[in-house]
Amino acid sequence: MSRIQMKTPLVEMDGDEMTRVLWPVVKEKLIEPFVDLKTEYYDLGLQHRDDTDDQVTFDSAEATKRLGVAVKCATITPNEERVEEYKLKKQWVSPNGTIRAILGGTVFRQPILVNNIQPAVRTWKRPIILGRHAYGDIYNNREIRVPGPGRAELVFTGADGKVIRETIHEMTGPGILQGVHNTDDSIRGFAKACFEYALDQKVDCWFATKDTISKTYDQTFKLIFEDIFNNAGYAQRFADAGITYFYTLIDDVVARVMKTEGGFLWACKNYDGDVMSDMVASAFGSLAMMSSVLVSPDGHFEYEAAHGTVQRHYYKHLKGEKTSTNSVALIFAWSGALRKRGELDGTEALVRFADALESVVIETIEGGVMTGDLALMANPKATEVLDSFAFLTRLGENLAKKWQG
Ligand code: NAP
Ligand code: MG
Repeated sequence: MSRIQMKTPLVEMDGDEMTRVLWPVVKEKLIEPFVDLKTEYYDLGLQHRDDTDDQVTFDSAEATKRLGVAVKCATITPNEERVEEYKLKKQWVSPNGTIRAILGGTVFRQPILVNNIQPAVRTWKRPIILGRHAYGDIYNNREIRVPGPGRAELVFTGADGKVIRETIHEMTGPGILQGVHNTDDSIRGFAKACFEYALDQKVDCWFATKDTISKTYDQTFKLIFEDIFNNAGYAQRFADAGITYFYTLIDDVVARVMKTEGGFLWACKNYDGDVMSDMVASAFGSLAMMSSVLVSPDGHFEYEAAHGTVQRHYYKHLKGEKTSTNSVALIFAWSGALRKRGELDGTEALVRFADALESVVIETIEGGVMTGDLALMANPKATEVLDSFAFLTRLGENLAKKWQG
């Protein structure tokens, strides 16, 4: 059997712990037998980030700008304990944060549905894709603990020296203050990324804020989305694709989401996206069945699993015990990246291969064969529960049969 040739390499970002253990197995069992895999490899494992003073993370993001498509393994964001554990030079920042800062863009998370795991919300039949604006708001805030009485003010000093001043509150006793910001540029990029992704996936786009209460801050989000939709060619492209853009209030959208069939993109402000993506993930079943892609306004794509490095399983694995780590989201990171590479390069066989790989994963689970995390939820019950490695081996066998046929 001749393997599929790739025109352009993928940027490959390796990672940590259990996901790092499974990473080469996914390649060996599910990709390399079928594809003459070309990648530019960057080791984002914590040890190598420390050795390179985190330069490798910057290099991998720059490579993504150059090549266009990356696939990333989960990585440790070090805290105090990790600094001890790995004897780090310092507490390096989140690689995902660094990559996002360099590429810009929006993170889209999408559940992977199988018919033997029923969503907690009965009406949900199709995936709800969540697009989170990963910039500003409370994530870059400044806060003050007010010690006692005084005037709280919002002050902006322009580059020309002009001052805009607004009283927030005459404080009569101790309390709290918070300052948040966003930029028109970032919101525009967010709007474009969401509209492009909705077109790419051929689904409606929903967006919501609380503009009735926040008449300048949230209102700006609403107006910029409206402006980009109407004046940047999206109204026509949406009409041609048979999809719609729908704006409403955040509380209205939350109520509606509970009664829809799914099958749309839900664009969320930063905090709404943080909270709602966890709710959507858990209601659809499992973090291990959630794929994630960063789409930059310049059309660069970085695919990954939504979950972390699954540390607890890694320590079991190191002790020689069997693990129940589910590799589905990792596999979909690879298939997503390969499909996008195929689309960009016009390599039709690569697109077909990515589709086949994803169908084999879904058919295998729907056939009753799965890892322990899914077996806990499956209905009808699993017929075979496999450990992390046996599951990958089985997928490889099923894929070989399907691809030859
Ligand atoms: P996690 O790795 O997502 O794991 C949390 C728990 O969720 C696991 O202990 C496991 O539950 C379950 N789980 C997650 N993925 C699974 C899978 N594929 N198969 C089966 N079960 C799965 O989150 P964490 O333990 O909070 O974080 C560990 C490390 O990951 C941290 O150092 C963090 O910095 C990093 N992290 C990285 C990313 C990223 O790179 N994008 C994202 C999040 C976290 P049970 O133990 O009950 O089986
Ligand atoms: Mg969250």
